[in-house]
Amino acid sequence: GPGDVHAEVVVLGSGPGGYSAAFRAADLGKKVVMIERNPTLGGVCLNVGCIPSKALLHVAKVITEAEEMGAHGIRFSKPEIDLDELRGFKDGVVGQLTGGLDGLSKGRKVQIVRGYGKFTGPNMIEVQGEDGVKTVSFDQCIIAAGSEPVALPFIPHDDPRVIDSTGALELADIPERMLVLGGGIIGLEMACVYDALGSKITVVELMDQIIPGADKDIVKPLMTRIKGRYENIFLKTKVTAVEASDAGLKVTFEDDKGESFSDTFDKVLVAVGRKPNGKLIDAEKAGVAVDDRGFIGVDSQQRTGVSHIFAIGDVVGQPMLAHKAVHEGKVAAEVCAGEKRHFDAKLIPSVAYTDPEVAWCGLTETEAKAKGVKYEKGVFPWAASGKSLSNGRSEGVTKLLFDPEDDRVIGACIVGTNAGDLISEAALAIEMGADAVDLGHTIHPHPTLSETVNFAAEMFEGTITDLM
Ligand code: FAD
Repeated sequence: GPGDVHAEVVVLGSGPGGYSAAFRAADLGKKVVMIERNPTLGGVCLNVGCIPSKALLHVAKVITEAEEMGAHGIRFSKPEIDLDELRGFKDGVVGQLTGGLDGLSKGRKVQIVRGYGKFTGPNMIEVQGEDGVKTVSFDQCIIAAGSEPVALPFIPHDDPRVIDSTGALELADIPERMLVLGGGIIGLEMACVYDALGSKITVVELMDQIIPGADKDIVKPLMTRIKGRYENIFLKTKVTAVEASDAGLKVTFEDDKGESFSDTFDKVLVAVGRKPNGKLIDAEKAGVAVDDRGFIGVDSQQRTGVSHIFAIGDVVGQPMLAHKAVHEGKVAAEVCAGEKRHFDAKLIPSVAYTDPEVAWCGLTETEAKAKGVKYEKGVFPWAASGKSLSNGRSEGVTKLLFDPEDDRVIGACIVGTNAGDLISEAALAIEMGADAVDLGHTIHPHPTLSETVNFAAEMFEGTITDLM
């Protein structure tokens, strides 16, 4: 029909995985079509994920830093918050980036087909758009359909006071009391934002620690800080019911001893994880296998069981992170163009952009213990760092794990302000097979937080023993 197109490579979804794959394939000479159901490109990350959350976290950081300056003799008055303007700032950042993607697509002649795409066969996707149905036939396909928040059966998700991360980023209002259901990265980042804006926060987490992927000692400084700021943090506790009434959302909790208690909140943010969109694209019609949870299995070249169809990003599995999606997208595109690429990264760093930030990559101590991997460690507490003391934030810790056989770096966990930026040096060290001497003998600028990586290596080597 009119508008039907043929692509050498079709990319389903325009998130960080999708646009990276589309751009790389186009740069390698392929005729590329990218299908997107949303009005803007960029997927979760740019529209309702990484970017808007970081814009708001920056605002939160400025507010709390101004508050804490009081202890150093600099007192500001209480901030006046204009939610419309704040929303405008966030939307402006998002718009600049998603608009940028339109330009980058045009520049590479990547054709955007708008609408909801579903497979109708191994070489065909049907796209339901506002102006009717179009078909896209293809030689090769890269599925980058991403993920969406998990909803819970016993929660009234249709009540506007029950929100997910997308709702939280909309900033409809600043609730007086907010429950954050789930103590993972996304929940805690949003808690950090609403706490700074003035909400009283309660966090409930099923596991015995917040950010369950990171080592307990590394999470501790964050836990200590938010304990001092938030109303309640319930660990080893589950939510068993949420009842909506005019008075608010009455939430029933159950602790690990089976005891129930309840409390009432103005808003409940559900942040209990994300589920892949693999089941929503009729992948079986192309012969692509999707597991019970909605994940699509791939090999190290990002190839599904059908050799001309690839999959990348959140839809192929954990960790659901933008930088993983981007890396996989480039691998898939290069394989489509005939290159012999594989996904062979040694690690994928994780960062919680909370205050303080928590970042880790490679092996964690918890993992090492569980798997019986031998390791030694170098730990540097930031209380001995001139830079962190000058920042008034000395609660951080930099911990490096080493292979006892050859002293190579095999893991890193950092907690503290800017930990997310600091983790990359450890990531590079691990990728390049650097050892403790490499990190210890590299001259780091003084005074910086990056020195803590150098000091942690020296603590391991024993070349610094007592802390200043
Ligand atoms: P997505 O970004 O999910 O994109 C998939 C796209 O495909 C969407 O645009 C969707 O509309 C489209 N699509 C799906 N199905 C169809 C279809 N059938 N037809 C047409 N279009 C379709 N990660 C980080 O690394 N750092 C962070 O700081 C970070 N912060 C986050 C904060 C929040 C609040 C959230 C929710 C997530 C965050 N993430 C972060 C995770 C990150 O957003 C995802 O890992 C990333 O977006 C995954 O990219 P993707 O390309 O796989 O899919």
